[in-house]
Amino acid sequence: MPVQYENQHVTVFQSELYQTTSTVAVTKDIILITDPTWLPGEIEAIRQHVDKHDNGQRKYLLFTHSDFDHILGWKAFPDAVTIASRGFTAKSGREDILQDIHDFDESYYIQRPYPVEYPSIDIIIDHDEQTMEIGNTSVSFYLAPGHQADGVFAVLPGPGILIAGDYASDVEFPFIHHDSRAYERTLNKLEEVMDENTINLFVPGHGTCTADGAEIRKRIRDSRWYIQTLRDEIRHQQSSEVLGAFVDSYSFSRYLGEEHENNKAQIEKERRA
Ligand SMILES: [Zn+2]
Repeated sequence: MPVQYENQHVTVFQSELYQTTSTVAVTKDIILITDPTWLPGEIEAIRQHVDKHDNGQRKYLLFTHSDFDHILGWKAFPDAVTIASRGFTAKSGREDILQDIHDFDESYYIQRPYPVEYPSIDIIIDHDEQTMEIGNTSVSFYLAPGHQADGVFAVLPGPGILIAGDYASDVEFPFIHHDSRAYERTLNKLEEVMDENTINLFVPGHGTCTADGAEIRKRIRDSRWYIQTLRDEIRHQQSSEVLGAFVDSYSFSRYLGEEHENNKAQIEKERRA
C-alpha cells in the first residue's frame, strides 16, 4: 500500500480508492491507528507496519466517523482500544452501513480475513478537547459534526499532528451529509485549533496531507466559501457560474457533481426546516 507521507512520528497510508488516508502515529507510549482501509492487502500492510513498531505500547484505533469506508477495518486490529464519538456509538442505521461494506465486497469479490462488524467503542468522545494522557503522550479529541453527525478530529500536540477526518481535503469540497451550519462550526473549530497549537502535519480523510499552514487555512476558507455561496444561491434561487467552475476545478468532477447535487438538496432541506 502506498505511503503518502512518513516522518519519525507518523505514517500516512493512502489507499488506491478515493485517495483515502489511514494514519498510524507511533510514540514510546502508544500506537494510534486511524481509519484503516480499504482493501484487504492495504489493511494488511497497515497491520504489518503496526507490528513492526510494536514495542509493547498500548494500541488505539480511532474512527473519525461512521462512513463505511472508515470503519471496515475494525476487526483487523482486535487488540486495539477503540475511540469514537458518542454519536458513533448511538448511531442508528448500522445495518445499512454494514450492508454498504457487504455490497462493496461482493461486487468486487473481496474476501476479508477478519469479520466485518460495526465497531464497539471503548473510549467515547463526548466533548471538545477531551484529552487522553498515556505516559508522555497526549491526544486531544474534538467533535466534528457536519459531514456526518458523529465526526471527530484528533490532535497530537507533541509532534503537532491534526487528523481531520473528512474535512479540508484537497480532492473533495465539503460533502454535507449532516448539516451545513454544523459543518461551518467544525471549520471554525479547526481554525481555532490551528491558532492554539503548532500543527506540523494536517491529515484529511481523503487526499493529500500537508505541513503548510497557509495551505490548511486556504482549504478551510475554500470549504466555508463553498457552503456560503451554495446557501446564497439556493436562497436567491439562482445558480452562479462561479460555483459550477469551482466544482469543475476538482479532478474527479463527475463523481463530485453528484455530491454537489446532494449538497444542494441538503441546504434546500435546511432552508425549509
Ligand atoms: Zn470518507
